[in-house]
Amino acid sequence: MRLVTFKQAETTRIGAQTDEGVIDLSQADAGLPTEMVALLSGGQEMLDRTASAVAGFGGRPYADQEVRLLAPILNPPKIFGIGENYAAHAVETGSVPPENVIVFAKYATTIIGPDDPIVLPRISQKVDYEAELGVVIGAPGRNIRPEHAYDHVVGYLPFHDVSARDYQMRTSQWTLGKNFDTFSPMGPALVTADEVPDPHDLGIRCRVSGETLQEANTGDMIFDIPTLVAELSSVMTLETGDVIATGTPPGVGMARTPPRWLRPGDVAEVEIDGIGLLRNPVVAES
Ligand code: ZN
Repeated sequence: MRLVTFKQAETTRIGAQTDEGVIDLSQADAGLPTEMVALLSGGQEMLDRTASAVAGFGGRPYADQEVRLLAPILNPPKIFGIGENYAAHAVETGSVPPENVIVFAKYATTIIGPDDPIVLPRISQKVDYEAELGVVIGAPGRNIRPEHAYDHVVGYLPFHDVSARDYQMRTSQWTLGKNFDTFSPMGPALVTADEVPDPHDLGIRCRVSGETLQEANTGDMIFDIPTLVAELSSVMTLETGDVIATGTPPGVGMARTPPRWLRPGDVAEVEIDGIGLLRNPVVAES
């Protein structure tokens, strides 16, 4: 399923995106939760019930123009960024590929949905794009072994780890540069894991104003998803709705000559085969 959070007639609900349009889950089965993390907390049983409700839906789905899609998860308990997880990206930024997983935090105030504007802060001159595969945690867990990691992954989404390089690089800690408002576009849909046979064989690319600037495959990650889940859960409990942004491939703006920073009027696109296309306009802070 392609699960979405959407706004329609001033109400925020969750739905399933189909070829016919968006099916409001509360219309398909009034007993289903109306918020994404609550739905995911129900585990496989709740997902099976959702799939049957969608398959048996006899009403009229909303046409795309009748709804506004929001980020699939509006308030994840945690958002992890993974640094330099593609060797060629580590090298292009002047680093060596890391021996240990580099983890940084992003906060829910950075989240925007598809078509929402990425706002370039007045105080940064070096805002960069980063296409990433987002992994969404379903069943919570601590000390998850790599061989059990996928039991805790409920699905995937396109994630844009927008980064202000001047703020990111001025100290050893990246938190400020990664956490300006609007710096975590995600969506349009959370694609459930059953529809993704191999999350490490997906074409991933970033286009800015039509120009392809990143083009890679998720198989090129240094630390794969089971390793990331095991490493993170060896320290803290992973919770339902947590998002892991798994790192970006080479081709970022800071590594280009001249650098290619995001500019007002740009359109940034993160595309992952089989997962979706996330498009956001770029605007100056007013
Ligand atoms: Zn990143």
